[in-house]
Amino acid sequence: MRLIDGKVISASVKERVKNEVALLKREGITTGLAVIIVGEDPASKVYVANKKKACEALGIISEEYALPESTTQEELLALIDELNNKESINGILCQLPLPKHLDEQAVINAILPEKDVDAFHPQNVGKIMLGDYDFVPCTPAGIMEMLEYENIDITGKTCVVIGRSNIVGKPMGMLLLHKNGTVTICHSRTKDLKEVCKNADILVAAVGKPRFVTADMVKDGAVVIDVGINRVDGKLVGDVDFEGVKDKCEAITPVPGGVGPMTIAMLMQNTLTAAKKQNKR
Ligand code: NAD
Repeated sequence: MRLIDGKVISASVKERVKNEVALLKREGITTGLAVIIVGEDPASKVYVANKKKACEALGIISEEYALPESTTQEELLALIDELNNKESINGILCQLPLPKHLDEQAVINAILPEKDVDAFHPQNVGKIMLGDYDFVPCTPAGIMEMLEYENIDITGKTCVVIGRSNIVGKPMGMLLLHKNGTVTICHSRTKDLKEVCKNADILVAAVGKPRFVTADMVKDGAVVIDVGINRVDGKLVGDVDFEGVKDKCEAITPVPGGVGPMTIAMLMQNTLTAAKKQNKR
């Protein structure tokens, strides 16, 4: 079994981004990310703090807009409009989930597609479908980066993704398809999930259920990617029963230290891409 180390791979992505940000700076071009957070969700606050820290380490200017829970749709849209027009801001990210009274899709739609570093805007989603894209949602992008770094060839492989969210499962399936994988996307209504998963050469778990993928669902020699972040008794665990599964795999990502660090690194990459595009580099 080979451990796919997200800390090592994300460090190499961040190093690459840092160097390119510095090169742009020499030309007088800054790279800036605005992060909007509405309300007091503790997990969201941790994610936003980590994003800010990553920006600082790479020379990316980060602006944080922490808005109260009571923020109205109009106020939030007005801020997005302001940031859309702000030249020093290349990327805009609105931390999800938003409080219930706000219309998440309308907020996503309001972000300029060329500043949409999360790649959630319908225009960017459509481009991913077409295979002609600048931005890819950070988590699936990070997984593709890991597979490439590890020289795991996808062509002709049976790829199974568990989970069909817009953020992870669906774009993940599409990226694997673009790399010539034979892709199945499973979800809560899938019949015989175990049988489907057992065929997978590459198995991606994005379910949100602790230790959901057990050894009997994994083919010998499979590559297993664990996207899950679940808190059990104060401990972070993935969607894969790591201890039970690891000896069957050719390669596996741990939780923590797997996909998580990649997600932030790819956000930095997307922000750099936005800055380059906006400055015609
Ligand atoms: P989601 O809740 O939007 O989607 C979960 C998916 O799992 C759904 O499509 C659902 O159909 C499927 N599912 C639920 N029960 C199932 C079952 N019994 N059998 C088969 N499929 C089932 O979640 P999400 O946003 O895609 O996130 C998934 C997990 O990944 C969560 O644990 C989340 O915290 C984590 N996550 C991690 C990162 C990271 O950076 N590592 C980023 C995003 C999400």
